[in-house]
Amino acid sequence: MRYQRSSALFAEAKKYIPGGVNSPVRAFKAVGGEPIFIKEAKGAYLYDEDGNKYIDYIASWGPLLFGHAHEPVLRAVIEKAKKGTSFGIPTEIETELAKLAVDMVPNVDKIRFVNSGTEACMSAVRLARGYTGKEKIIKFAGCYHGHSDAFLIQAGSGAVTFGSPNSPGVTQGTAKDTLLAHYNDLDSVKELVKANQGEIAAIILEPVAGNMGCIIPTDVFIHGLRELCTQEGILLLFDEVMTGFRLAKGGAQEALGIDADIMMFGKVIGGGLPVGAFAARSEIMAHLAPEGPVYQAGTLSGNPLAMAAGLAMLTAIDQNPEVFERLAKKTEYLHKGIAQVLTEKGIAHHINRFGSMISVHFTDEPVVDFASSAKGNNDMFKKYFHGMLDQGVYLPPSAFESYFLNDALSYGDLDKTIETVNNIF
Ligand code: PMP
Repeated sequence: MRYQRSSALFAEAKKYIPGGVNSPVRAFKAVGGEPIFIKEAKGAYLYDEDGNKYIDYIASWGPLLFGHAHEPVLRAVIEKAKKGTSFGIPTEIETELAKLAVDMVPNVDKIRFVNSGTEACMSAVRLARGYTGKEKIIKFAGCYHGHSDAFLIQAGSGAVTFGSPNSPGVTQGTAKDTLLAHYNDLDSVKELVKANQGEIAAIILEPVAGNMGCIIPTDVFIHGLRELCTQEGILLLFDEVMTGFRLAKGGAQEALGIDADIMMFGKVIGGGLPVGAFAARSEIMAHLAPEGPVYQAGTLSGNPLAMAAGLAMLTAIDQNPEVFERLAKKTEYLHKGIAQVLTEKGIAHHINRFGSMISVHFTDEPVVDFASSAKGNNDMFKKYFHGMLDQGVYLPPSAFESYFLNDALSYGDLDKTIETVNNIF
């Protein structure tokens, strides 16, 4: 049996870990079946506990821009670990990574490191509230900003009024301060701003969304948000956890040509170790403790191993800026190849792509927001996902996720992937 050992490991994991996983999407709930357990990975390939090999399109959900076990990152972490793994006292490497990140990203003077994207977004919203003295935020249906309470809000029936919790445990008190708008629908934002004049601290969004598949903002939408925020004294928060250091050196701000006020990072900035960060101009960051009164802290924040991985990763990007163009070309090649197969077979689909992010939607309508993404045919997606898995291609196990290409993928890997799509349908 192809997945025998993974299956046994999953059964054992379920005895001690809720659902057998430490992050829900890993459990394959959306696609059925059981997760594979990974033994090791190198470059573009994953190897599971049964010895099966996969071409990997998730790259640990984004961080591994150069592929798995990238030598400079490995070397940096191993050397650092020999000198102690955590001190809770300042180290030089924190400043080195901060300086490099601030040099690469537009509109930021200072950066604070945390341990995850969730922490980065949660802290950035607190900072935005502290800075503006306002309490409400606007987020978009289908955007994910981690699992802190204020973000676990989805459209209820009165979608464009007050949000309602969609996870038990999120209080109504928290939910009422998160207003819900629709991606690529500037009017939905304007209505909320008008109805809550002078009360909104921040608009937070994924500047290119990756959590409802890959969704690209229209020019009207993204420029309109910037203009609206400037006019109304609202901070524009770009959640660059996926897009930061992936779409360009300067992230989505650079790729889209838009200036945001606070940027949140995760994934690539940690090179595969747990790092998140948020950054802004000095004037905003000065409100953060210990300089200012907005509190935020972390025992393992700026951890030396995590900083070493992040520094090696950002240095590799800084020294190889052509990586973004190379990745975009590979992604375009994959896009064209898969589109050709699906078109030849008469399968309704839309493929969204930006840089090295891409998603395949089984629908005949353009996918521009959460509602259109949700119209995708999930039975087709399941067939596609499991067909690919069984033939050695690892895709995100949900139609609401973007793929992340890594630079270790060869054109041979892409051809094999396209061929596999052809085999399935
Ligand atoms: N923001 C975005 C855009 C994300 O995609 C994610 C995670 N996928 C997060 C925030 C949360 O990051 P983490 O899982 O590191 O807490």
